[in-house]
Formats: sequence, C-alpha cells, structure tokens
Amino acid sequence: MHIPTNLNDAIVIGGSYAGLSAAMQLARARRRVLVIDAGVRRNRFAATSHGFLGQDGRSPDAIAAESKAQVMAYPNVRWIDGTAANAETRDGGFRVTTEEGALEHASVLIIASGVVDELPAINGLAERWGTSVFHCPYCHGYELNEGRIGVLASSAISIHHALMLPDWGQTTFFLNDTFVPDEAQRAALAARGTVVEAGAIAQLEDTATVVLRNGRRLVMDGLFTATRTRIGSAVPEQLGCALEDGPTGAFIRTDGMQATSVPGVFACGDAARAAGNVAISVGAGAMAGAAAHRTLMFG
Ligand code: FAD
Ligand code: MG
Repeated sequence: MHIPTNLNDAIVIGGSYAGLSAAMQLARARRRVLVIDAGVRRNRFAATSHGFLGQDGRSPDAIAAESKAQVMAYPNVRWIDGTAANAETRDGGFRVTTEEGALEHASVLIIASGVVDELPAINGLAERWGTSVFHCPYCHGYELNEGRIGVLASSAISIHHALMLPDWGQTTFFLNDTFVPDEAQRAALAARGTVVEAGAIAQLEDTATVVLRNGRRLVMDGLFTATRTRIGSAVPEQLGCALEDGPTGAFIRTDGMQATSVPGVFACGDAARAAGNVAISVGAGAMAGAAAHRTLMFG
C-alpha cells in the first residue's frame, strides 16, 4: 500500500507562543517547518495578557493571531489544525500522526504543547477562571488595584500564594479544609499581614465573593489558586522523554538549549518548565528553534 507522506525538516507540536517562536527561527533559516496545533491555548479564558514586554494588556488571542500571521507569511511553513496523537522515531527522524489522520515525517521535533490546568473542585470557580480567579499574581495581580484578595488553598504549595499576594492587596487565605499551616507558617503569614480563614468553601458568588459552609460571606475583588497541571500531549511519554516533577505537576526535562533527553527532540514553553508565562515561552521557543536548526545542520 502506498502511504502518502510529507517530508519536513521540523515538526512543531503546538502552535501557540512557544511553538510559533520556535517555528519563526526555523522559518527564517529557510527550513521546511510544519506546525500542528489543536488551538486550545492555556490563557484562552483571559481577556487580557500582562507582563509580556511590548504587548502588555493586549488580548491573548490577538497576540497569538498576529504571531501566527507573521510566521505563516514565510512560504516554507505549513500549518495543520489538528492534534498530534502519536509520534515515534523512524528512519533517523520522526513520524507523527494526527487524530484527524495526517501522517508526517521530520528530522527534528519540537514539543510546545503547553499544559492543561486541572482546577480545584469549588462551586463557581470554573466559570470565573481567567476573569476573577487566577493562578499567576504577576499576570493578574496588579489590576486588582490593591483590593481584597483571596487565596483558595488547593495543596501545600498554596502557602506560597498566601505569602506572596500581600504585595498586591489585603490578602485572606481560605484554608477550605485542604491545608493546615503549622506554627512557623502561621507566624510567617501574620508577618505578611495575611488573614487566615478556616472552614470549607460552599461556593463562589458575584465577582469573587467566597461563601463558607459555616455561613460566612467574604467579599473579595479577586481570587488566586494553584491548579494541578499536566502536559498537554502524550507525545513526550511516547518518545520516552525524561520528565521532572514540578510543584504543580510533571514537565519535560530540557537542557539550556531546550533539548530533551531524546536526541532530535526539543521542548519549550509551559510543557517544559515548572511555571511558565508568555514571555518565557517565547524566549524558550526561540532557543528551541535555533537549537533544532543547529541539529539539522550539524547533527
Ligand atoms: P499554550 O499557549 O498553552 O499553547 C499550547 C498549544 O499546543 C495549544 O494551542 C494546544 O491546543 C496545542 N496542543 C497541545 N497538545 C497538542 C497536540 N497533541 N497536538 C497539537 N497541538 C497541541 N501568561 C502571561 O504571560 N501573562 C498573562 O497575563 C497570563 N494570563 C493567564 C491567564 C490564565 C487564566 C492562564 C491559565 C494562564 C495565563 N498565562 C499568562 C500563562 C500562559 O497562558 C502560558 O504561559 C502560555 O500560554 C504558555 O505558552 P505555550 O505556547 O507553552 O502553551
Ligand atoms: Mg509549550
């Protein structure tokens, strides 16, 4: 049976900030690049993106759309709307198949699939995610204008949120029967001015009001919580890329050139670090693209 295939120099899995940045470097090196993207960016819930120099306060969709247009202006870049389902080493390179049935080969692979957030199971949280409930103070803390901030405990790492957020506003730490600070932690919270509120959360209401099961109702201007994260694609595990444990979940181990433990496979963006943002993803993508190009040239 004849199976049609396409030969690419590089396949980039994930066409958001990290993947597009990697593709840009390879495009400008006149290499044949294929970007496969499922179109589900992590920050799609937020109306504005902050902290990325030159784009502060712009919509995340607009940043991604303009970035895609700039990359796709290079005639040596192709794009597939789809999900990379399987990747394996083949003929000294890689073979990638998509859920939609595309079959592609390339000499190098760049994984930029981001992470998926698993939200704490609190009534009313999911519909406020990205609008009044956030995980990253640097991204969304400033706009709360030093108002009332709640931290919703989700695991032991929530103590870091509870200690950080006083720099952005008067902070209340809701333990939600999930986390119990020890004496040293209570002293540290007090030193930062964080108020501790015990008891289970019944639900969130209005903008960011926390209703406890004991009937207390605390009006907040914004809430922060730590999610569990998982890598947005099965490809790194299929290829045997070494992973590392981060405070919120596993991520792909990479070296200073964004190379994974598997020769010819690079990774960048949130999938390849413990805690990411747009600027760091774009920087890591640029490094991954240049490093992948080096491998294409010199092996
Ligand atoms: P993503 O942007 O998540 O993109 C990954 C892409 O890969 C997606 O398009 C996905 O569909 C695709 N993909 C996954 N698996 C596959 C597959 N198997 N095949 C094909 N495609 C695949 N950061 C900031 O700097 N400023 C902010 O203000 C900010 N606000 C945020 C608000 C919220 C609510 C959240 C959750 C995050 C926010 N972030 C912010 C963080 C930011 O979203 C991430 O750091 C950034 O999106 C990471 O970029 P990335 O390219 O690595 O991954
Ligand atoms: Mg990524």
